[in-house]
Amino acid sequence: MQDGFHREINYLRVSVTDRCNLRCFYCMPPHGVPTIPHAEVLRLEEMTRLVQAAALVGVKKVRVTGGEPLVRKGLTAFVEALAAIPEIDDLALTTNGILLAERAKELKAAGLKRVNVSLDSLRPEKYARITRGGDLAKVWAGIEAALALEMHPVKLNTVLLKGFNDDEIVALAALTLRFPLHVRFIELMPLGACRPWAADYFLSAGEAWETIEKNLGSLHEVRKLVGSGPARYYRLAGAPGTVGFITAVSDHFCDRCNRLRLTAGGGLRACLYDERELDVKAALRRGASLEELARLVVRAIAGKPGRHRLGEAGEGGGQKAMSRIGG
Ligand code: SAM
Repeated sequence: MQDGFHREINYLRVSVTDRCNLRCFYCMPPHGVPTIPHAEVLRLEEMTRLVQAAALVGVKKVRVTGGEPLVRKGLTAFVEALAAIPEIDDLALTTNGILLAERAKELKAAGLKRVNVSLDSLRPEKYARITRGGDLAKVWAGIEAALALEMHPVKLNTVLLKGFNDDEIVALAALTLRFPLHVRFIELMPLGACRPWAADYFLSAGEAWETIEKNLGSLHEVRKLVGSGPARYYRLAGAPGTVGFITAVSDHFCDRCNRLRLTAGGGLRACLYDERELDVKAALRRGASLEELARLVVRAIAGKPGRHRLGEAGEGGGQKAMSRIGG
């Protein structure tokens, strides 16, 4: 359905857990963030019901995220349940990839179409530092598993961090010359742990673009890539993969935003940067009908703001880490 700004809202991101097996320094403090008590986290059956209701009012695309979705027990059965909803024609997962190699096959068999893997460095030691302990070899094995299973397009998400991984932009973009991978450079958003210092580490997508063209040649615009939302995609000459840019801060794409989020705690959030959430847990737990739940989805869509103000003077996102909202 359309929101108040004539945008078709057909994409729901479902955060299945606020827990994560990594502690990326821009996302969480070293000790993590307080997690939601188990009883407060929606059961996967409740999330399935909410997706069924959202499908009734036009949601066609679902992304499973977190926290780290692969740490949630019962995820494969959940994917299977979502894949069985006739209206859902695109079902994807965003993961840090640590557990992907061991799970990819069963997830694909359950109906998962594709994966986005977050990867901010190609150097094992630096990857471990950014993630506070992550093992790059495991992530790479996960990416290879997704490619081997042809879960195309396999996308990599790289957050641009000035002074930290700007020396790897060329190597990351060059992956697209060797593999059918879609490497997306994402601007650091002032949310969660990095809110106080995000501006110091900020590197614009435009700067990354210049670095790539200077070192690897021209980037040619690609018209359509499955699931292409806010990213704009380009191809280096002869590359099987593409390079994407997500300019969340320098050039917001709110006029093209088609998403709604369901948090692990049962809040419907219409904008990543807007703290307001519509509680659906209470309705789910008192056994509301699908029609009633659909009306709540409609209400959340109707409240979607026209645009966010992130990046403007003095404006930051909320204190909540992306792990709580569902990045
Ligand atoms: N654990 C999964 C993963 O790592 O992909 C899913 C959740 S994670 C919060 C989703 C994405 O949000 C990751 O690609 C992460 O790098 C990104 N992210 C977290 N905090 C961010 C920030 N402040 N700005 C930009 N991206 C951020």
